[in-house]
Amino acid sequence: MKIIHDITEMQQFCADVRQRGKKIGFVPTMGALHEGHLKLVDEARRCCDLVVVSIFVNPTQFGPQEDFEKYPRNLDADAEKLAPRGADVIFNPSASDMYPKNCVTTIHVVSITEGLCGAHRPGHFDGVAQVVTKLFNIIGPCTAVFGRKDYQQLQVIKRLTTDLNLPVKIVGMPTVREPDGLAMSSRNAYLSPDERPRALAIARALTDAHALFSNSAELATIENHIQKALIHSFDTIDYITLADADSLAPFPADSDYPSRALIAVAARIGGTRLIDNTVLGEDAPPIQR
Ligand code: AMP
Repeated sequence: MKIIHDITEMQQFCADVRQRGKKIGFVPTMGALHEGHLKLVDEARRCCDLVVVSIFVNPTQFGPQEDFEKYPRNLDADAEKLAPRGADVIFNPSASDMYPKNCVTTIHVVSITEGLCGAHRPGHFDGVAQVVTKLFNIIGPCTAVFGRKDYQQLQVIKRLTTDLNLPVKIVGMPTVREPDGLAMSSRNAYLSPDERPRALAIARALTDAHALFSNSAELATIENHIQKALIHSFDTIDYITLADADSLAPFPADSDYPSRALIAVAARIGGTRLIDNTVLGEDAPPIQR
């Protein structure tokens, strides 16, 4: 497995690979890899000839009070996890190469970035759109694999790729969970042993939501149930949102009962912010009872 730090070298490498008629699978990450990331690598391996995984903790998607500095970084450990899964290249650029001082171009996706995490992390999706566009331009035409764990991010990237005619096929993969149902996340490492069991309240509440949805419970009842279920375990609830799974817009009061609905949650335990979601009427419940 090759590790490339230089942007031009990465660009050239990918161009040569395509020249030889090979398809590139690309998995963008911020490192601190877990099984959720590795399942994306498996998918890229399955559908493509060569797999590139980027590891880059992108400064432009973190707010000033967020965890950019303390975000876990361990390239050697990540490389050890990637090699047995068949990744061919790790792309690990430096922040100063990605964002030279005179870099002033940003990308702003409207509408679908307004609710959910967009409302609580100002500028976050501008940073995501910026780095993903840059990475797609460096890697070039490819299949890029993302997780549905970051559901809003996936919709933003799909929108941006279509709107800017980027030659990239976007694949979204299911959320990978711990055996008890907690969605895997690099940020789970911040949870203390006392906090870890409390975090499970989200997966439990989302599982209840599936049962309520199959009994056609009022959408407001589902939201209220989740609110009550989280209030004791979490210190702050950023949002609990039921929305159209494609537009991320809330359902109008007079709409028919939907056949599918996104329910997305962000909540904090101490300094740790966790997000999770499920699409009612589509996904399997997070916990199999
Ligand atoms: P990150 O390194 O957290 O920016 O995530 C990189 C990619 O991994 C994104 O496409 C995430 O949606 C995806 N990802 C993170 N956690 C999970 C998970 N538990 N299951 C599936 N995909 C995930």
